[in-house]
Amino acid sequence: MNAYVSSVIANVKEKHAHEPEFVQTIEEVLTSLEPVIAQHPEFEKVDLLGRMVEPDRLFKFRVVWEDDNGQHHTNTGYRCQFNGAIGPYKGGIRFHPTVTESVIKFLGFEQTFKNSLTGLPIGGGKGGSDFDPRGKSDAEIMRFCQSYMTALYRYIGPDTDVPAGDIGVGAREIGFLYGQYRRLKGTFENGVLTGKGLSYGGSLIRPEATGFGAVYYLLNVLRDADLRIADQKIAVSGFGNVAWGICKKVAELGGKVVAISGPDGYCYDPDGIVTDEKLAYMLEMRESGRDRVQDYADKFGVEFVAGKKPWADVDYDIAMPAAYQNEIGMEEAEAMAAKGLKYYIEVANMPTTNEALEYLMEKCEVVAPSKAVNAGGVATSALEMSQNSERLVWSEEEVDAQLVKIMDTIYRLSVEAAEEYGLGYNLVAGANIAGFKRVAEAMMAQGVI
Ligand code: GLU
Repeated sequence: MNAYVSSVIANVKEKHAHEPEFVQTIEEVLTSLEPVIAQHPEFEKVDLLGRMVEPDRLFKFRVVWEDDNGQHHTNTGYRCQFNGAIGPYKGGIRFHPTVTESVIKFLGFEQTFKNSLTGLPIGGGKGGSDFDPRGKSDAEIMRFCQSYMTALYRYIGPDTDVPAGDIGVGAREIGFLYGQYRRLKGTFENGVLTGKGLSYGGSLIRPEATGFGAVYYLLNVLRDADLRIADQKIAVSGFGNVAWGICKKVAELGGKVVAISGPDGYCYDPDGIVTDEKLAYMLEMRESGRDRVQDYADKFGVEFVAGKKPWADVDYDIAMPAAYQNEIGMEEAEAMAAKGLKYYIEVANMPTTNEALEYLMEKCEVVAPSKAVNAGGVATSALEMSQNSERLVWSEEEVDAQLVKIMDTIYRLSVEAAEEYGLGYNLVAGANIAGFKRVAEAMMAQGVI
């Protein structure tokens, strides 16, 4: 291994020993940048990698809120502005009990590469809180969002840092967050957040964009493998906004998603989640705040298996994990390989442990990394920012056409970057290298900062 790359990884491991997710992403990405670093000794001289693994800044703050019984609660809020070399910081806010500084930093680092890969002018950032939205009333969610924004508003803005949704943060939360930002600033700067409702500057297709984009990326993979999506059975994990978008687009194209999962288990629907009724019910389940996928099986009379994931059991051709980080470890990967899985398409941010990823890259014909596959969400957020600054609303067709183009470009750039460095058809390394190149060039051009 290149000495500079290994020394940066070793430093991160030592300094962040208590931050496993952050160490994991650094190790994965930096390892695949090795051939680039080996060809560019100038990067070591300016310690480019050392600079890249250190966030520009990270805000950490107290978020106090009152529940419906008048009891006060205290959570920790975060916003990490990871890298601003190519544009204002951009990335979601996650409300989930598993959120820690390590999780926010890994997401911010991934986001930097992902956003670069879109070709759009957006830097990398991420935020969130360990607040658990499950079972909370609308009023409690609103008070939490207002308190979070009160702590954060002075550090963000349409040209500074533009948060959006992520796990636990959807249109309702973005509405409350924007309301509080507008009240505190006294201006209608709606470009400060994306994922907004249509009535105050949201973009058409943004709710669908991550799932649609993942399928557009998949279409590229299938085209190069001479396969048709209409012949594919897809197993997905998760049942949130992203899984919904995948089901919807796959159904539209004549294929089918046959499994979805939640914290309670998985549902197997061999007929596919293809009807309008089933798709609409997925949204209802999410909005109920129950976080239970069994409701789907009860409603449509399909199989539900408690406490398990679909990978070892159901009949599928393509795996698309779309729930959480590290949901695929060696056990799941081995179950996939035992079924002869050929197409492993990551969707959630870093859903695979590094060990399982390496293993699947050996066993499968195609492994596609989430930072490329799920980039359609943030790319469409950037299109929302464009519409906000133009004070225009683009049609559904316009946004969708842009999204298709962006996903095709991401795929092509990934393929080309891997080939350029002699790595063959390697979508994982290709995405890391292509994302890196643009950020690296901008950082080199901007001097020692
Ligand atoms: N949270 C999404 C992501 O992981 C979307 C971010 C955004 O739209 O800014 O990319």
